[in-house]
Amino acid sequence: MTVSRVLLLGPPASGKGTQARHLTALVNVPCLGTGKLLRSEIEKGTEVGKQAEQFISNGEYVPDQLIMDMVKSWLNEDPQKSDGWLLDGFPRTLPQAEALQEISQPDLVIALDVPKENLERRILMRRECSSCHSTVAVENSEQVECPVCNAETLTSRSDDAIESFKVRYANYKELTTPLFDYYTAKGILRNIDGTQSPDKVSAEIDQIINQF
Ligand code: AMP
Repeated sequence: MTVSRVLLLGPPASGKGTQARHLTALVNVPCLGTGKLLRSEIEKGTEVGKQAEQFISNGEYVPDQLIMDMVKSWLNEDPQKSDGWLLDGFPRTLPQAEALQEISQPDLVIALDVPKENLERRILMRRECSSCHSTVAVENSEQVECPVCNAETLTSRSDDAIESFKVRYANYKELTTPLFDYYTAKGILRNIDGTQSPDKVSAEIDQIINQF
């Protein structure tokens, strides 16, 4: 079977963004990262951004309706998306999954599995570069120089504070993990050990896609 509609699930800092880049090139479909799009709406000061801002900085999920409207308009804005897509960080709740099922059904759901202790470590070391927009892991928490573009513009995401992370993780456990049963019942869920190196995770993804 050709895979053209893919979902990427996983807790915060499980490597979804990195693997989304890999999958986009592999499957050759447009990708929507809902968290990334929300951050850009906040930066631009749009109505959606204003509605989402407080939820995101507190580590809470943005309301389902707001997310669904955003995803629907992304899916409808380009006819190419009827041929396939990759959704990174969506759906995150059962109502979102059920709403998506009514519009367009995923072929494959990849879930990255990483224990809480590893995630906490990754969150503390995660930085974003405001010049080249890379996400990097620093070895020293004082580091401000971006290893990709060398600009001294590394900052932490506001929702990467440890208090916000705890709320995000608790929400993931309560609201997102029920999706595992939902997609297992459809026979399309594949779990990957996300504690492996990014290259190993990508290699497992390749294998899954090839055997699907
Ligand atoms: P991420 O970049 O995927 O970690 O997402 C950052 C934040 O955006 C999350 O902590 C949520 O507040 C919000 N968000 C992103 N995607 C969703 C979603 N599908 N449902 C609800 N909130 C979301």
